[in-house]
Amino acid sequence: MKLVIFIIDGLGDRPNERGLTPLKEAKTPTMDKIAEEGICGLMNAIDIGVRPGSDTSHLAILGYNPYEVYTGRGPLEAFGLGMDLKEGDVAFRCNFATVDKDFKVLDRRAGRISEEEAKELEKEIDGLEIDGVKIFFKSKGYRGALVLKGDVSDKVTDGDPHKEGEKPIVKALSKEGEKTAEVLNKLLKIVYERLDKHPINIEREKRGLPKANIILPRGGGRVPKVEKFYNKYGLKGCCISSTALIEGIGKMLGLDTYEVDEKKMNIEERAKIIIDKIKKYDFTLVNVKLADEASHDGKYEEKKKIIEETDKLLSLIFKEIKKDEVYFVLTADHSSPIEVRDHSADPVPIVIWGKSVRKDDVKEFNEFSCAKGSLHWIRGEHIMRILLDLINKNEKFGA
Ligand code: ZN
Ligand code: ZN
Repeated sequence: MKLVIFIIDGLGDRPNERGLTPLKEAKTPTMDKIAEEGICGLMNAIDIGVRPGSDTSHLAILGYNPYEVYTGRGPLEAFGLGMDLKEGDVAFRCNFATVDKDFKVLDRRAGRISEEEAKELEKEIDGLEIDGVKIFFKSKGYRGALVLKGDVSDKVTDGDPHKEGEKPIVKALSKEGEKTAEVLNKLLKIVYERLDKHPINIEREKRGLPKANIILPRGGGRVPKVEKFYNKYGLKGCCISSTALIEGIGKMLGLDTYEVDEKKMNIEERAKIIIDKIKKYDFTLVNVKLADEASHDGKYEEKKKIIEETDKLLSLIFKEIKKDEVYFVLTADHSSPIEVRDHSADPVPIVIWGKSVRKDDVKEFNEFSCAKGSLHWIRGEHIMRILLDLINKNEKFGA
């Protein structure tokens, strides 16, 4: 039996003045059919009243305690960029930015330098060593990740002042973070000295563009001890997504990761990749991101349209999977109400579909009808347990 968890990012919503949500209003014949044939309920990835990030919610849904394994965005970004990370390393996400002669930030994104320019500047930072701490840096366009190896701590502030006109300075949050703060401040000085006079920046200055003469580290976290997905469940797993963050989670857990560009690929191409991986792996996690993006932009109609397109994607996938071969979970990582333009703690609909699930009377997949399902209300951590039980791989507790 194969297991699939299909996550529509930020799907859940709050009713508008007409009492509708984008999901309730969207035409979703496939999702409704899955709900009709499956067991439905509501789900909070972390807990009631907890507003999750996409990262912490995905960890919870995969059965990992985010309060233990989530230490910040930094390690996930670095994993997502394919960097070599060991337990205890400290990683940050970074932007290339512009500082003036007084070291004050002029532009937090350095006018979004190109991929090629960033790759050249990366060489000036990657491989440095300061006070016995080894430093690795990898760029992705104007963004990147910074990894510190050695006697380091994540008890430091961001080096990013988060606004223009202030200096990038790292401060220790406790005694433990003092050395790391010192190393990072030395690093920022060295980066400035090397990049400010770099031919790429001289050239940018000539063209009237802001220099990419500093990096601003933020979201620092210690690489946690994490049991790999295969060791935890004995399942060969993969993760299909279009964002570096979800890819980073997949890599951290040792899942094979595949990128599906939702903006460039058509539904058929995307379905083909997903079907192929479902057939190849014991476990497949799919994240589709665009509904969450529309939510952050406050676009109701756009979110509805994306949900309808996702329904078409699901219809193609469901042509290829059989009930006696696959257990399929359709849900979201969190709600992203249009009126909030951000994530909320409202529970999301969930359906589990497959052989011998206790089908209920729910016939539509949305926030309202799924509340009447016989799965009732569960947390993210319950999903993998339920799936393992369905395939009879759960260990018995007791005699
Ligand atoms: Zn999300
Ligand atoms: Zn979001």
